[in-house]
Amino acid sequence: MDTFLHSFWQYAYLFAAFATVFAIKWLNHPSTARRGVITGEIGFALAIIGTLLRKPTPSDPSGVVHYTGILIAIVIGAMIGAPMARLMPMTAVPQFTALSHAFGALAAALVGTAEYYYDFPAAPSGFKMVALTIEVLLGFLTFTASLMAFGKLQGLVPSPPITYKGQNFVNLTFLAAGVVFGVWPIVTAAPVWVYPAFVLISLLFGVMFILPIGGGDMPTVIALLNSFAGAAACAMGFALQNRLLIIAGALNAASGFILSVIMCKAMNRSFTNVLFGAFGQVQEKVAGKQAARPVRSATAEDAAMLLVNAQKVIIVPGYGMAVAQAQHKVRELTDQLVKRGVDVQFAIHPVAGRMPGHMNVLLAEADIPYDRLHEMEDINNEFSETDVALVIGANDVVNPAARHDKTSPIYGMPILDVDKARNVMVIKRSMNPGFAGIENELYYDPKTLMLFGDAKSFLSEIVKEVNAQAPVHA
Ligand code: NAP
Repeated sequence: MDTFLHSFWQYAYLFAAFATVFAIKWLNHPSTARRGVITGEIGFALAIIGTLLRKPTPSDPSGVVHYTGILIAIVIGAMIGAPMARLMPMTAVPQFTALSHAFGALAAALVGTAEYYYDFPAAPSGFKMVALTIEVLLGFLTFTASLMAFGKLQGLVPSPPITYKGQNFVNLTFLAAGVVFGVWPIVTAAPVWVYPAFVLISLLFGVMFILPIGGGDMPTVIALLNSFAGAAACAMGFALQNRLLIIAGALNAASGFILSVIMCKAMNRSFTNVLFGAFGQVQEKVAGKQAARPVRSATAEDAAMLLVNAQKVIIVPGYGMAVAQAQHKVRELTDQLVKRGVDVQFAIHPVAGRMPGHMNVLLAEADIPYDRLHEMEDINNEFSETDVALVIGANDVVNPAARHDKTSPIYGMPILDVDKARNVMVIKRSMNPGFAGIENELYYDPKTLMLFGDAKSFLSEIVKEVNAQAPVHA
């Protein structure tokens, strides 16, 4: 029994490594996502228990010596983390993800720093120092960059890109100085001030990296920072010779990077454009000039008439649905229409909302069956056979300019072809633009009806009208 307890951590790490792989696999689809989360949680709970039971031996000095500090840290962490996770609104997930990356990265950087000073004044050397340098650089820069991302999304830091002349030069100079201070202790014994200077530059670089990026691009940047935090953890695994950290950190780094590439592709933007394109500035320039062109608006009663008389309706949710928290009303409307024999499907654009999977999560929360949710590529050619495309708080992801207007900032972004439906109805509060800050010609299309109002209230009206107007015939 004693031997088992002694080597329990090794089994726990092995299980946790498999659990991470399966968790990522299952998180890939809404129907298996819960299983993925639970598997990941069990894997890491076991890994933590295994680590706590690990005792130092003469052949392996790694292990827990005192529990008091660890227990205090667990209690403080749980007291902050648990209420945050419970009370956080769905629309605030991007900024809270940024906050959790910030703390994860800070932990990696602090462990690296402790390891660096472990035998002070002697410093680690060789491969260990290389791993520590990567860990500390990525850890500290991800910490401040994630805090900045949190601040921009939470409105604590101005959201538009902050740019100035020669910014790229200044940033590159900082990066070069960071590389010099980082490489110095690797190649030769460095003076005592070099390591603190390296830490300071890493922290400052994180802030400077985020300044020129607009708040709207933060979700993509957060995915990239997730990747950095994973790479820092992976480097920490090499420095501490901890295989679980290497595996989980590498998986985290790869999945975060792949996610940010997918997001860039779905917006038809390059990495360089997101990181250095100062994209939010477009929003400011164009947002002001609203052309006074006529649009057709309609009432909830008109909308209900059209919907109950349709055979097929495709609902396109967007960021506005999330802001209005209208998903439960969407579910009520869907139920009422399905009862009346209408075929109701959902078209999900990969970057609808402000984070990947935003719409899937909200619709799942409202118990809308997964089999009604379709990815853009799967449903796009169904719009031409659809009686009504009902767009709820989506804007850029249905803007036909992306197909033909070469001057548009979203030109080339794949969109949902709602304009091919027989009728289009758009619920939004005004003619204001969406994230990209550009007008949407869909609203001026003669077959489009604008339903002006908050998504939740307007949908409530429509549901009432549907109930009042049409007897169930299914
Ligand atoms: P969008 O283009 O930002 O448009 C959202 C629309 O919702 C706005 O036009 C707004 O119009 C409306 N709205 C806001 N509050 C509302 C409310 N309470 N009730 C009704 N309508 C409301 O959103 P999207 O079509 O979902 O496109 C997402 C955009 O975010 C894309 O440009 C994408 O590239 C970008 N983005 C997404 C991600 C991601 O991972 N999902 C990451 C980075 C960037 P009113 O103000 O007139 O109501």
